[in-house]
Amino acid sequence: MRLVLLGAPGSGKGTQAAMLKAALKVPHISTGDLLRAAVKAGTPLGLKAKAVMEAGKLVSDDIVLGMLEERITQPDADGGFILDGYPRNVAQCEALERLLARIGQPLDIAVKLKVPSELIVDRIAGRAAAEGRKDDTPETVRERLRVYAEQTAPVAEHFGTIGRLRIVDGVGDVDAVFKRILAALPGELTGA
Ligand code: ADP
Repeated sequence: MRLVLLGAPGSGKGTQAAMLKAALKVPHISTGDLLRAAVKAGTPLGLKAKAVMEAGKLVSDDIVLGMLEERITQPDADGGFILDGYPRNVAQCEALERLLARIGQPLDIAVKLKVPSELIVDRIAGRAAAEGRKDDTPETVRERLRVYAEQTAPVAEHFGTIGRLRIVDGVGDVDAVFKRILAALPGELTGA
């Protein structure tokens, strides 16, 4: 299964991706996690990305694409993957389609988790208290939500236009949302 998870910051993508990874037995590839690891390791790429992430802006398309390609071409992703945090704008969407065509791994489906913005703000405030992510301050969250609405929402529209989008209600407990996602996936790919 080659799946893209879409949704605003705080919509629960990371949590659901971890559960899907276990259920579908494919790796969870999160560009946010890859970038945070690079920042932590202090690589040249991490040094470039740090300030941009802390401001809630998008890291440059070139950097993220290079990092994604390196990860997605690892052997463990041969049988599929769950992509989280990418694509985040229309240019990344086009780059992803080119990359996947080149490696002969076209996307099966995109799932968008839909959560009202009032809930998102509460959820991120909770996460900020629990995890202390530097980009979870109210000001940065506001900017991330703005960037999402402006640049990432059109990505879902694109997948809708090509008939590859499933929209799932992301409100409710984690297990309920997970069941909804599984039910929305094409049956022939989940063995259902
Ligand atoms: P969230 O989905 O909660 O916003 P992520 O962990 O996916 O968090 O991403 C955190 C930050 O990492 C983003 O705000 C952005 O700065 C950077 N980032 C992650 N993925 C991408 C991407 N595909 N393109 C550009 N920047 C990205």
